[in-house]
Amino acid sequence: MGEKEKGFGGKREGGGGNTGEDDVAFKVLFCGICHSDLHSIKNEWGMSRYPMVPGHEIVGIVTEVGNKVTKFKVGDKVGVGCLVGACHSCDNCNKSLENYCPKMIFTYGGKYYDGTMTYGGYSDSMVANEHYVVRIPDNLPLDASAPLLCAGITVYSPLKYYGLSEPGMHVGVVGLGGLGHVAVKFAKAFGAKVTVISTSPAKKKEATEHLGADSFLVSRDQEQMQAFMGTMDGIIDTVSAQHSLLPLIGLLKSHGKIIMVGAPDKPLELPVFPLLMGRKLIAGSCIGGMKETQEMIDFAGKHNIRADVEVIPMGYVNTAMERLAKADVRYRFVIDVENTLKKE
Ligand SMILES: [Zn+2]
Ligand SMILES: [Zn+2]
Repeated sequence: MGEKEKGFGGKREGGGGNTGEDDVAFKVLFCGICHSDLHSIKNEWGMSRYPMVPGHEIVGIVTEVGNKVTKFKVGDKVGVGCLVGACHSCDNCNKSLENYCPKMIFTYGGKYYDGTMTYGGYSDSMVANEHYVVRIPDNLPLDASAPLLCAGITVYSPLKYYGLSEPGMHVGVVGLGGLGHVAVKFAKAFGAKVTVISTSPAKKKEATEHLGADSFLVSRDQEQMQAFMGTMDGIIDTVSAQHSLLPLIGLLKSHGKIIMVGAPDKPLELPVFPLLMGRKLIAGSCIGGMKETQEMIDFAGKHNIRADVEVIPMGYVNTAMERLAKADVRYRFVIDVENTLKKE
């Protein structure tokens, strides 16, 4: 380990010559478009700072390393996800949970240690402290691995933490979008029986035939839902729109867990009685620490898990954002930064 003792001297924004002694500079090849990019550019969470360069699903090739960097060398395939800094001395940091550090620094729109703004991956270059850089396994294509750095770890971490990664678990996945489709893949790779729960019957074929889910439930179909009552060990709920928790609680076995990873902007109604009756749990989870993020991407490499992506040129980003707002993407847009970011 030993990362904790190191200083932090880097400068986040792209461009040569700013690589600090613990920093890794890389040429950005691809960057995924996460739903939170859309929220951030529109300031829908009320905490955006401008000018903003969004993007926290960033992959590329190392071009320069600082003289104290030990984990990476020029030419390595690397990525940066949602975080570029943390305090490295709190309880969470000491447990490799930088993602829950109160001083955690977001990859874009955050304030770096030196007071400068952080800028994300819709850019031709990236600099980050090596602690926040992950190695991308050789067998994973860079475009399809970019979304794993946010969407992938967002679902991997709760599956592990809440005991749903044991083989033989019955895991429900609510919502089949950027998060949901990788949740199905990770849960299957852990050896779970996976049921997708969706409002849209049209997604059944996709879920079962393409993504490999074992079964599919239309949430509005009472009969289907009834047949699965009390069968699930856990549910990963990726939906960020308003929705009712009651039918989902009904799907759980006793001691079952619903893990919320979407972020509804208004509070949901919480039916307490059915929770008490089965000692059931509703919980949350937010991305993962750096150690676990590396573990997730290594696991993805080993099991050949990749996101399903629609690769787009930089000039298409505004259109992609409009389509994303309508959930019209299968399942993640990824910007081909290297080939389409034109420099005049
Ligand atoms: Zn994200
Ligand atoms: Zn901390």
